[in-house]
Amino acid sequence: MIIILLGPPGVGKGTQARLIKQHFSIENLSAGDLLRDFAKKNKDTEIQKILDSGELLPASVVNEIIKDNLQKVNKNVILDGYPRSMMQVKFLLEHFDQKNLSVIHFFTNHHNLNARIEGRINCTYCGEIYNKFTNELNEDKCVKCGKKQLSARADDNQVSLQNRLSAYTENTLPVIQYFRQIDKVYDIDASADIEIVFKEISKILKTILS
Ligand SMILES: [Zn+2]
Repeated sequence: MIIILLGPPGVGKGTQARLIKQHFSIENLSAGDLLRDFAKKNKDTEIQKILDSGELLPASVVNEIIKDNLQKVNKNVILDGYPRSMMQVKFLLEHFDQKNLSVIHFFTNHHNLNARIEGRINCTYCGEIYNKFTNELNEDKCVKCGKKQLSARADDNQVSLQNRLSAYTENTLPVIQYFRQIDKVYDIDASADIEIVFKEISKILKTILS
């Protein structure tokens, strides 16, 4: 089963994907991480620039990277950050059976999004995600791995957030509508605390995977 996480930028999908991985041992493919890795490996500054500005990458590039990585996994997998447009949905359905797809849709209000995005810090060593407003961090040290490699993501700023929100409204809302029509969508209110959201997601996952 491919479990697709959809929701606006900063809604907490990445955090929940990591919790799902820890508690359910389900592999986690983040489109953003895959593309950043790809950019790093290829030292492709054009791709890096596009990623930092919050714009969408050329469809063909994204599609091939996602397909290659999905095809390597032959069990349940969480897919975060893809598909973001109906073009990507069509591509996905050309290569993967619709009956093996489920969608978890995260919704929240804009106020929450701003606070989460502005406070977001990642550990560049182990990938753990923190928020400087809500986590007590000692000397910028990662609680999980102990490395001093915490940094804010280059694309986490206001202009980029507005770009990503408009791209989401324009391109991704139709994706949610599409999957809703074929009864694939489970909605989750992501404005609650992380633990509460995760409890709800756990219930949904048990339904999906039963
Ligand atoms: Zn770490």
